[in-house]
Amino acid sequence: MRLIDGAAIAAPIRAASTAEVTRLRGLGIEPRLAIVVPTDDEATDWYTRSLVRAAERVGLGCQVDRLIDATRSGIAAQLAELSADPAVHGILLQTPLPDGVSLAEVSGDIAPGKDVDGANPASLGRLVAGRPTFAPATAAAVVEILRSEGVELAGARVVVLGRSTVVGKPAALLLLAADATVTVCHSRTADLAGLCAQADVLVAAVGRAGFVGAGFVRPGAVVIDVGTNPTADGSLVGDVDAAAVADRAAALTPVPGGVGPVTTQLLLRNVLTAAGRSWSGGPG
Ligand code: NAP
Repeated sequence: MRLIDGAAIAAPIRAASTAEVTRLRGLGIEPRLAIVVPTDDEATDWYTRSLVRAAERVGLGCQVDRLIDATRSGIAAQLAELSADPAVHGILLQTPLPDGVSLAEVSGDIAPGKDVDGANPASLGRLVAGRPTFAPATAAAVVEILRSEGVELAGARVVVLGRSTVVGKPAALLLLAADATVTVCHSRTADLAGLCAQADVLVAAVGRAGFVGAGFVRPGAVVIDVGTNPTADGSLVGDVDAAAVADRAAALTPVPGGVGPVTTQLLLRNVLTAAGRSWSGGPG
C-alpha cells in the first residue's frame, strides 16, 4: 500500500498562493481570513492552529475570533460583522457548534462572497446546481488528491462513508460532478462493510478512530481518510485502521499528512480568490 503524500500535493498550491499574495499586495490588497471558533473541541483547535501557521507561511493575514459560551445570536452577530468588514476577505466558521445551534442556521450569515469554506446554504445550493461557488475545502481536497494521484473518476465506483454537510455530502456532489458513481453511507446503512468493499475509491469521513478495517476495502482500492480523531497523547488518528488495510488498499492518505494539508491550501486559495474579487468589484 502506498501512502499518499498530502504535503507534496499541497506544495504547488501553496507556492501559487504565496505568489498571489505578493500580486494582491501590489494592488494594495492585504488578504485576510477570519476564523470564528465557537468551541473548545480539541480536533478543531488542532485544525485552527495548523491553519494559522499555514496562512502565516503564505503571507496571508489571519485572525482567530474565539467565542466563549457562544449563542446562536452571538455567532450570527459575529459573522454579520465580519461579512461587513472590508478588511476581511474570507470567513471560516469552525465546528462543532454549541448544542442546539445548527450550521445551516448560522452559516447563512456568512456573506457568500466570503464563504471560503462553502458553508452557507446558498453556496451549497450552487454546488448542487453545478454553478461556480466555493466548495467546502475538505470535500474539494478529496477530489484534488484523487486527481493529482491520477485516479480515473469517470465511471469509478466511489463510496463516501459519512453524510455530514461539511464533508460527506459535498464530497459526494463533487465526485458526482466528476462522473463517479457515488454511494453515500451513514449510521443507518445496512451491510456497511459489504457496500464499502465494492468501492474503487473509499472516502472515510465518520469521525471514529480506526473504524475502517480490512473488511471495508476492496483489494486495489484507493482509500481517502478524512477522519481526524484526537488520541489521549494529543496526536491525531484517522478513521482508517492503516495496518489492517495495508494488504488490501492500493493507496491510502495518512493522518496526519494526507487530506489535512491539501484542505488547508485549498481554503487559503479560496481566500485569495475572494480577495481578488473584492478588488474587481465582488463575485461574478
Ligand atoms: P460528523 O458530522 O460527525 O458526521 C459523521 C458521519 O459519519 C455521519 O454521517 C454519521 O452518520 C456517520 N457515522 C458515524 N458513525 C457511524 C457508524 N458507526 N457507521 C456508519 N456511519 C457512521 O463528522 P464530519 O464533520 O463529517 O467529520 C468526519 C471526520 O472528518 C471527523 O473525524 C472530522 O474531525 C474530520 N474532518 C477532517 C477534516 C480535514 O480537513 N481533514 C475537515 C473536517 C472534518 P449519521 O449521519 O447517520 O449520523
